Amino acid sequence: MVSTEKAAIDRQSGAVLDVEAVRRDFPALAQKIHGRPLAYLDSAASAQKPEAVIAAQGRCYREYYSNVHRGVHTLSQRSTEAYERARARVARFLGAASEREIVFVRGATEGINLVAQTWGRSQVSAGDEVLITEMEHHSNIVPWQMLCEERGARLRVAPIDDQGQVIPEEFQRRLGERTRIAAFTHVSNALGTINPVREMTAAAQAAGAVVLVDGAQAAPHFQLDVQELGCDFYVFSSHKAYGPTGVGALYGRLALLEKMPPYQGGGEMIRSVTFEKTEYAPPPARFEAGTPDIAGAIGLAAALDYIDGHDRRAIQRHEEDLLRYGTEALSRLPGLRLIGTAAHKAAVLSFVVDGVHAHDVGTILDLEGIAVRVGHHCAQPVMRHFRVPATVRASLALYNRRDEIDRLVAGVRKVREVFA
Ligand code: PLP
Repeated sequence: MVSTEKAAIDRQSGAVLDVEAVRRDFPALAQKIHGRPLAYLDSAASAQKPEAVIAAQGRCYREYYSNVHRGVHTLSQRSTEAYERARARVARFLGAASEREIVFVRGATEGINLVAQTWGRSQVSAGDEVLITEMEHHSNIVPWQMLCEERGARLRVAPIDDQGQVIPEEFQRRLGERTRIAAFTHVSNALGTINPVREMTAAAQAAGAVVLVDGAQAAPHFQLDVQELGCDFYVFSSHKAYGPTGVGALYGRLALLEKMPPYQGGGEMIRSVTFEKTEYAPPPARFEAGTPDIAGAIGLAAALDYIDGHDRRAIQRHEEDLLRYGTEALSRLPGLRLIGTAAHKAAVLSFVVDGVHAHDVGTILDLEGIAVRVGHHCAQPVMRHFRVPATVRASLALYNRRDEIDRLVAGVRKVREVFA
């Protein structure tokens, strides 16, 4: 079925997410913190894990664990099959054309570094340009800075406006015949802005650039289709998408992966080794030197099964409702400024409270059992743009409820009283 047909049917279905059932799937949500029920509003940093993921990893270790790819014995074959099934599962989740386009990595950070160090070092020369945006996470800034320094290339930055949106003309203006790659986030972790990825990708590719999309904050929220987006590389982390830590995926167009030199050397990534010369394995094995995070990949596949086990449109509608509700409630609070008010946003409420440092807000909220993140969110250029040292960030997931936002709002009121 083509994706537009599916979208139409989902819209008609109008399915509603059963949030109470979802919450029962996440054992960590049932606890109390400082005597209050936990309100976990920090999923953009890392999401809680459903029982299905914990159980899948447990089963792997209890029942069929062994190293992958190397053994003829039964357990090794079983774990290899499960690991490779996980790769196929990720390919399906991302809408990739083939599982050969999926490289298991430690997370979004390693995926970006892999592309910078392999594609980048082989393709970027002195005088070339790399284009990013002002809203990137440090993971999508520093690897490119390192590459540019090494290759004598220039890092260019497309600015954002005061709502936290990339200014399309400015992005376009920085694309040129020297642009080798444009790397930008799908959703900003500090602002919640959803970038028009398809349009930005088309513009960059029309200028002859390759495109990497940082999907760390999109994968938990949207139905993805890398072929429809048209990008050349896409990265995401398992732990933000309800899966285990320590694993993630890089999607790369096969034709590009096939041309890329290896990332790290070691076992698993070779076809043959002599002291004179090593022949490398084809992708994705070429980029997976050493023993991978076997149970992590299997847990990630279980997380993707968990997400897709729900109506994806229903998840999106639920999270949109929470975002709208939270935005309206926080906007009404005197002395509070929302940072990031883009027209298209997902799952993030970033704000500052007049005269109170974000860390104090976070500490007082914690005493109320409310978990939020405070700081620069690994996006210091964003903080600089909005002239704040840090923000308080409440981030939303499929298991959150409106009453948790009510508690957040009450908590911020309390902060104002304490600091009045
Ligand atoms: N990109 C974005 C937009 C993020 O939010 C994060 C993590 O916060 C990353 C990249 C890095 O992800 P990880 O630390 O899982 O590698």
